[in-house]
Amino acid sequence: KMQGVSGREEKILVSIRLRPLNEKEIAANESADWECINDTTILYRNTLREGSTFPSAYTFDRVFRGDCVTRQVYEEGAKEVALSVVSGINSSIFAYGQTSSGKTYTMVGITEYAVADIFDYIKMHEERAFILKFSAIEIYNEIVRDLLSTDNTPLRLRDDPEKGPILEKLTEETLRDWGHLKELIAFSEAQRQVGETYLNEKSSRSHQIIRLTMESSAREFLGKGNSATLVASVNFVDLAGSERASQASSAGMRLKEGCHINRSLLTLGTVIRKLSKGRHGHINYRDSKLTRILQPCLGGNARTAIICTLSPARSHVEQTRNTLLFACCAK
Ligand code: ADP
Ligand code: MG
Repeated sequence: KMQGVSGREEKILVSIRLRPLNEKEIAANESADWECINDTTILYRNTLREGSTFPSAYTFDRVFRGDCVTRQVYEEGAKEVALSVVSGINSSIFAYGQTSSGKTYTMVGITEYAVADIFDYIKMHEERAFILKFSAIEIYNEIVRDLLSTDNTPLRLRDDPEKGPILEKLTEETLRDWGHLKELIAFSEAQRQVGETYLNEKSSRSHQIIRLTMESSAREFLGKGNSATLVASVNFVDLAGSERASQASSAGMRLKEGCHINRSLLTLGTVIRKLSKGRHGHINYRDSKLTRILQPCLGGNARTAIICTLSPARSHVEQTRNTLLFACCAK
């Protein structure tokens, strides 16, 4: 437990989402070895491995079973953090897990539920004027691209002494309504696939960030000069497959697989570990693009939620355990 800059007790909200076995796994006669035994504990059950040394029960803020819908994952694992944006507090919500564990499935739903709630909030607060801005980027091999632009030129990241890290020429669309949101998400999805022959390969290696920035000010002060404007961002981060962080661990694979190790993912891991231990001392945000871009929405009094997605299949047990170890370090 720690004290945030705001004086409140801040910690990273860490949840686990176990997906059901998929058709391929069922067809391959896979067994589901992981079970959520209550709202906070997930258990490994493999009768063939009785007596093994790794821990078999893991506890988190929240654990979601295979039959939980994304609405529930949002309500209990992300909503509070996402909606801090309306109070002028920055936040980041991450989906972390191996490829095919359900990161995109989870993050797409969470993004939509959060935007719907933000629209509702705006409707209920007519005394304030709001502007919502939408941007979408991809980080691939430490190169940042604007997913709202057809121009494929990498975005330059610059440090502004007042505003912090800035992506030069990033497209920011003023979000009008629900239809506009769907349009922008579809456009950025399409941009992500441009020129990609091996889409799965790319989506397993790249990070996607959808950022909503909210500006609000009291209407009675509008146009009267120095009215206080609240500005904050919420980031929805669909991370590269977590197998990109762990392949470094087996020494024999290092040379051959070296190019697959993902710097942003590794750095995020060390940053999250340090933040979870207390926000003191040096934190290595500058070691990767992902952490540099997200720095204002990770440290200080920013709020963070991580949803770790898992496959229940026995054949994925190694990666599943790596994901749980990451999650344990974050809480
Ligand atoms: P990732 O982004 O981690 O690679 P995806 O989100 O693409 O994984 O999920 C892989 C597949 O599994 C998709 O077809 C997705 O629809 C399905 N899936 C993922 N999570 C769930 C879930 N909780 N319930 C049902 N289907 C899921
Ligand atoms: Mg994905």
